[in-house]
Amino acid sequence: MADYVIPPPAVVSVPVAGGGAFPVRRVFCVGRNYAAHAREMGSDPDREPPFFFMKPSDALVLNDADMPYPSQTKDLHHEMEMVVAIGKGGKDISVADARSHVYGYACGLDMTRRDIQNQAKKEGRPWDMGKGFDKSAPISAIVPAAKIGHPGKGLIELKVNGKVTQTSDLSMLIWSVSETISYLSGLVELAPGDLIYSGTPEGVAAVKVGDVMEGVVEGVGTIRCRVV
Ligand code: MN
Repeated sequence: MADYVIPPPAVVSVPVAGGGAFPVRRVFCVGRNYAAHAREMGSDPDREPPFFFMKPSDALVLNDADMPYPSQTKDLHHEMEMVVAIGKGGKDISVADARSHVYGYACGLDMTRRDIQNQAKKEGRPWDMGKGFDKSAPISAIVPAAKIGHPGKGLIELKVNGKVTQTSDLSMLIWSVSETISYLSGLVELAPGDLIYSGTPEGVAAVKVGDVMEGVVEGVGTIRCRVV
């Protein structure tokens, strides 16, 4: 065993519905994966290849926990998403085989400092500080695919303070979960513990301190997070 000179970082984990904990390795996110959201962000939603960005695993915020309003922004946006939890790693995974690599699914919020992200876009700089900041990734418990199967359609919705802001259907994903896994595994070798935030539908908007976000993915579950 290595003689660590500082304490090693703790393993981040997400509770599994029904018991146990899912240890998290990396957090990948898909950009512009619902056409209507791509349009509202000023992009052409035609089937351009999916693209990815990442958040650190310690950016996760567990269900029902508060999320502190982050520094350096005046435009914190919610993005309601279904999260895919990878149970079996691999590279160059085929679309047909992709589901066998999924451990389960969760509800997630890809919180975004939109002003910082927009500035980065304008200047051709990385999105990391707009996307991968502290506490930027609320997530619900993970539900095993062995229990619920692989949701390909069904409501995905977010309410802020009881009012619906985002509503769509999983069938509106431009790149399905299987296609996303296949594509991403051609860029990097996926590993057990990886999470993939699969993209957000239209209706992203700013939240402020005191707002309560409540999301649902039909067949997966619910998420709740308050901005403090
Ligand atoms: Mn997103």
